[in-house]
Amino acid sequence: MDRGVWIIAEQWNGKLKRVSFELLARAQRLADKLGDHLSAVLLGYHIKRAAQELIYHGADVVYLVEHPRLFQFDPDPYANCLERLIREERPEIIVAAATTTGRTLMPILAARLHTGLTADCTDLDIEEGTGLLLQTRPAIGGNVMVTIKTPNHRPQMATVRPRSYKPSPRDSSRSGEVIVKDYPDELFASRFKLLGLERPREETVNIEDTEVVVAVGKGIGKPENLKWIRELAELLDGAIGASRAVVDLGWLPYPHQVGLSGKTVSPRLYLACGISGAIQHLAGMRGSELVIAINKDPRAQIFKVADLGVIGDLTEILPRLIQRLQRLKSKGEKG
Ligand SMILES: Cc1cc2nc3c(=O)[nH]c(=O)nc-3n(C[C@H](O)[C@H](O)[C@H](O)COP(=O)(O)OP(=O)(O)OC[C@H]3O[C@@H](n4cnc5c(N)ncnc54)[C@H](O)[C@@H]3O)c2cc1C
Repeated sequence: MDRGVWIIAEQWNGKLKRVSFELLARAQRLADKLGDHLSAVLLGYHIKRAAQELIYHGADVVYLVEHPRLFQFDPDPYANCLERLIREERPEIIVAAATTTGRTLMPILAARLHTGLTADCTDLDIEEGTGLLLQTRPAIGGNVMVTIKTPNHRPQMATVRPRSYKPSPRDSSRSGEVIVKDYPDELFASRFKLLGLERPREETVNIEDTEVVVAVGKGIGKPENLKWIRELAELLDGAIGASRAVVDLGWLPYPHQVGLSGKTVSPRLYLACGISGAIQHLAGMRGSELVIAINKDPRAQIFKVADLGVIGDLTEILPRLIQRLQRLKSKGEKG
């Protein structure tokens, strides 16, 4: 009998990545619906404190495997340990992050375990009656949303993008169980040798970690008008996001792109300026707390997801909005 909902936690140098808490929050909903327990799997070295942290954030059980070869991600020992663990404990559902780690590990595991994998899901739910995992993701070039089920094989496995869900809150009064797994040395063998680690150089734009994203679409008209977007982003202490149309036109570089083939963001404020709201764009910003959209077309799709919609011309609205914010700011500075 297969039981329980699992997440694959991720850590870097012994510190849990935020996405681990996002996965816990997502999987908690699934476990609650199934009336089952929630477990996290943590692989690394010297990470016992991180295991406790996963319990504070919602895990009932943490399966912990520690070994020097697990200190940094290496597909061979990671996949070997996970495969062994899954065969021993037989979870019903496994959710991992659509990060380099998750996107490398999960297909290996799916192939070895002869089960399905739905990558890059935007939504996960439990089907009433059957208890099956409903895995929703864009398909056919992002033109439709499909819901996929895995009725015949176990575990049911899915990845979800980082930043597509709010992390679970910390509650230090929570208790749970840490199960330490000791595995034989051959499981930690690897065909890879880590020569060093380097940060990607071109990635200077960080739209995933800011509280405000001022996003611009083709409706801005011409690249010269981007000056308003830059001013707004500065006044609001935010970063600049862009639709694919703007990136394709070469008005902003790719690291600004939000959406299915760009980044996923979940800021407190997403200000969409001249963006139509195509399904592929929405896939990257739906997790935003407050969405304000400015568009001259009252039927634009973006208004369907906006909390506040302003119908009008950007060339008139943006200069006035900037003036207003500048006035507010200078008043605030004067006390
Ligand atoms: C496989 C695939 C992946 C994709 N991935 C992405 C992705 O990651 N991100 C993404 O964004 N798109 C993606 N797309 C493209 C997507 O389908 C849309 O084409 C794109 O999002 C449109 O960008 P836009 O809203 O800036 O432009 P448009 O659709 O041209 O919309 C411009 C909007 O501006 C408004 N407007 C025009 N002038 C003004 C004005 N003066 N004042 C106010 N409003 C004005 C118009 O009413 C319109 O709504 C993808 C498509 C495919 C097929």
